[in-house]
Amino acid sequence: MTTSTRTAIVTGAARGIGAGVARRLAEDGFAVAVLDLDETACKDVLAEIEAAGGRGLAVGVDVADEDAVQAAVERIAAELGEPTVLVNNAGIIRDNLLFKMTTSDWDAVMNVHLRGAFLMTRAVQGYMTKAGWGRIVNLSSISALGNRGQANYAAAKAGVQGFTKTLAFELGRFGVTANAIAPGFIETEMTMATAERMGVSFDDFKAAVVKDIPVGRGGLPADIAHAVSFFASEGAGFVSGQVLYVAGGPKA
Ligand code: NAP
Repeated sequence: MTTSTRTAIVTGAARGIGAGVARRLAEDGFAVAVLDLDETACKDVLAEIEAAGGRGLAVGVDVADEDAVQAAVERIAAELGEPTVLVNNAGIIRDNLLFKMTTSDWDAVMNVHLRGAFLMTRAVQGYMTKAGWGRIVNLSSISALGNRGQANYAAAKAGVQGFTKTLAFELGRFGVTANAIAPGFIETEMTMATAERMGVSFDDFKAAVVKDIPVGRGGLPADIAHAVSFFASEGAGFVSGQVLYVAGGPKA
């Protein structure tokens, strides 16, 4: 089987890092299912993929909804091809200091990052083991190391790392690798929302963050897409259970 016949799924792909990853995997020759909460919101990314000569499918699904995930994965297998690459990227933030964090803010973050990655991976892994080849890439974060105001998000992103390493142990014998990428500051609507919540302009927020990034710039979705492209590649079959910090330095 060649890469051009392989199907990849990217969750949270209507914008930001997920959109960058979807475009890059299409360039790499994968048929790409562009998943997000709102199917209409996925159509721009799909149009870009098709305009560049690629193939894809826009799918609206909440990754935390068990039945919807199962139906979406079956639809992708039938309409685009059986998926053997999965990028669990969908994410939300509900930041607050612990004493002000609501239970629903805690649950919402756990549901998207952990339950979502679990449901998507469980639904897709059968196609990978059947093919004897698969690549799972999960989005963690430097916040997994702890971050003020992010008890929920930090716990979820650390959980993603444990989940990834366990997948590597369980699925390796079937030719399936699982790795995590832990981005530092990446310019997306997520970090724009953080600046807004802090009451500072995005430019000021970015300048303050970039001061501490060794390579002296903020990250872009393409920086993360490049790392995903590596993990999804044929040659990366002996790299599994790893956490790659893509942060412009050892920890940004
Ligand atoms: P983003 O711009 O906010 O995009 C996230 C996407 O995920 C949105 O399109 C969002 O849809 C979608 N989404 C949210 N909940 C979903 C659900 N239940 N089911 C399906 N899709 C859902 O975020 P980003 O900055 O690109 O981040 C992508 C990933 O990288 C996340 O896992 C994030 O935690 C991680 N990350 C980001 C940074 C950073 O600096 N940006 C750093 C470290 C890690 P809606 O628009 O409809 O909500």
